[in-house]
Amino acid sequence: MDTTRRRLVFGIGAGTVAAAAAPSFAAGYLDFGSQLASEKEVDRPIRLDRNENPYGPSPLAIAAMRDGLESANRYPDSSKALREKIARHHRVKAEQVLLGCGSSEILKITADAFLKPGKKLVMATPSFPLLSFYAGNNGVEVAEVPLAGDRSHDLPAMLAKADSSTGLVYICNPNNPTGTVTARPAIDEFLRRLPGGIPVVIDEAYHDYVTPSASYVSLIDRPAGDGRTIVARTFSKIYALAGVRIGYAVASAEMAEKLWPFSLQFAENALAIKAAMAALDDTAHVRQSVQRNNDQRQEFFNHANVRMAGVSDSQTNFVLLQLDHPIDEVMSHFRKNNVLLGPRFPGIDGFVRVSIGRPAEMKEFWRVWDMLPHEDMHK
Ligand code: PLP
Repeated sequence: MDTTRRRLVFGIGAGTVAAAAAPSFAAGYLDFGSQLASEKEVDRPIRLDRNENPYGPSPLAIAAMRDGLESANRYPDSSKALREKIARHHRVKAEQVLLGCGSSEILKITADAFLKPGKKLVMATPSFPLLSFYAGNNGVEVAEVPLAGDRSHDLPAMLAKADSSTGLVYICNPNNPTGTVTARPAIDEFLRRLPGGIPVVIDEAYHDYVTPSASYVSLIDRPAGDGRTIVARTFSKIYALAGVRIGYAVASAEMAEKLWPFSLQFAENALAIKAAMAALDDTAHVRQSVQRNNDQRQEFFNHANVRMAGVSDSQTNFVLLQLDHPIDEVMSHFRKNNVLLGPRFPGIDGFVRVSIGRPAEMKEFWRVWDMLPHEDMHK
């Protein structure tokens, strides 16, 4: 196989590589040479390593936080109102909603509730590693199951690992760092066959970025009805509130009641609550964030194709880009140029995860990429 072709057909499967761009298009995409993106348009460093929404929170959320500043001397008293609002948003009961300091706290709560020594966590690899970190802290074994060839969760293999010692199963959908979706029928089949009593966390942090299709249905929108699923959501991604730390879980009322004692009591941040309430009202901001991400992600595919660089399909605000240099070299080269990528994930050393930033930030990304020698790039 010639090297040019090898660069396009990589482990993820040829079908997931975005279609090659027409040659006339190439000149335009490669034509910014040494131009530097204007300092005003980008933050320094350019953070393409955290899957944040680079466009900032809704103006309504910002105004709500400003309004709340003068009452910062008071303990929060509106967490019930936020739970009720989230419940209305999802057409569930408020008793089914549990708030957390980001969805990170939701993951910690589930670890503390279900992962005692002697128990086991079953999850995919590579995937979002926070729950396995908490499991490790609790002295709990983690059974990591490699993703399937299409980079969805290998649910039959995960099922094979689930036994009487399994305390919890974690499914990240769409998955971080691969940006891939695990099909809902496969999840339903998994839940049907999983031995009774094992709770399952479905992490839908990137739900809003998924292009609607028959194969992806949120476990909140269509509950499994088995009482054991805990769906984690966050205000950090599409709502662009990562810095104020607020997330939540939707579960059965019984499950939520079981989890609540493991949460940090009186911990909800009053400004975060106000911001989240306002963010839920701003559907235009959500729509715009999705659109901007889709546009910039497509631009990224176009740039990658012009350079004959492999890139994985993605249902999220990040992509995996195939590397022709060792990942450490690439990350360090970008770091020296004020662009942060990654982090490294096990098993995918040939790729780097790149969060989709604003247009000027992505322009700078490609400028820095083009500083590396890339064999065959223009062939
Ligand atoms: N789950 C996934 C899949 C994530 O990628 C992240 C953060 O990047 C989180 C959960 C934690 O998000 P937060 O604690 O900001 O809600």
